[in-house]
Amino acid sequence: MIATQFDYKVPKSLNEAVSLLAADPDGSKILAGGHSLIPAMKLRLAQPQILIDIARLKDLAYIREEGNQILIGATTTHYEIESSALLKQICPLLPACAASIGDVQVRNKGTIGGSLAHSDPAGDWPAAALALQAQLVLIGPSGERTVSADDFFIDLLTTDLQPGEILREIRIAKPSGQFGQAYQKVPHPASGFAVVGVAVHLSLNPDGSCQIASIGVTGVAAKAYRPGATESALTNSTLDDAALAAAAAQVCNGVDANEDLYASADYRCHLARIHTQRALAAAKANAN
Ligand SMILES: Cc1cc2nc3c(=O)[nH]c(=O)nc-3n(C[C@H](O)[C@H](O)[C@H](O)COP(=O)(O)OP(=O)(O)OC[C@H]3O[C@@H](n4cnc5c(N)ncnc54)[C@H](O)[C@@H]3O)c2cc1C
Repeated sequence: MIATQFDYKVPKSLNEAVSLLAADPDGSKILAGGHSLIPAMKLRLAQPQILIDIARLKDLAYIREEGNQILIGATTTHYEIESSALLKQICPLLPACAASIGDVQVRNKGTIGGSLAHSDPAGDWPAAALALQAQLVLIGPSGERTVSADDFFIDLLTTDLQPGEILREIRIAKPSGQFGQAYQKVPHPASGFAVVGVAVHLSLNPDGSCQIASIGVTGVAAKAYRPGATESALTNSTLDDAALAAAAAQVCNGVDANEDLYASADYRCHLARIHTQRALAAAKANAN
């Protein structure tokens, strides 16, 4: 199908993008990589009257360290994160997650900001943002506000972004001390989207036991989530095989699991348990 007719605007600055969006917040849509929005427009699931293209705003695409934080601009592409030498060194979960997304064309055009703003239930970035307890900086006509990833994902394709707001930056506390990270995913064979994806960040005590486990799960439910029972079971655990299995067994507790032609709810939860255990074991093995 062909998308309905729309106007196309290319702002020269973030402020101009905010003003353009404020002029018609309900009829306009931000365009970043276009790898979710354009297919939705072609299917007429989205019919914006105006597209505001922020992909060319060079000052929204960056990866940098500032104090004890990692700052990532919203239009940074999956590929830029996948190939970042800095991130491979200081926060390897981010390049690992990026490398698992779709194919090379998708990674070259798709952006971390677009993916988080879209909140696809099978998208990979929401899991990593939750595991890393990211803070998301949103800008709108009345200024900026910061929302934690925990509060950002509201429901299926629904986030805390209000009409007129743009996701500007993703902030992550730079991992310190002894820690291990991993991303494990079962990709859908056709699209590459996550049937199940599990992102893990483990902070370890000097004796190698677990201080804090922070986990994000995608693909299983209407939105990505943190499995509270699994995280709690790991606190102060020695992370032996039995402890990992017992914690992973709780990953779908209280979750209304998705069901589709590819995977039943039971099968999805089975995959989630197996891949949580694997992600935990990999994070432990990767610990510095
Ligand atoms: C064949 C294919 C395979 C894919 N496989 C995967 C996969 O394996 N894993 C995965 O996670 N994703 C996958 N994707 C999706 C891809 O990662 C998209 O790039 C991503 O979901 C959206 O990012 P985008 O930059 O393309 O956003 P767009 O498509 O441009 O925008 C998506 C939505 O977010 C809004 N938006 C964009 N940027 C902002 C912003 N900064 N502030 C506020 N709102 C914003 C738009 O208005 C729109 O509603 C796949 C896509 C395709 C086509």
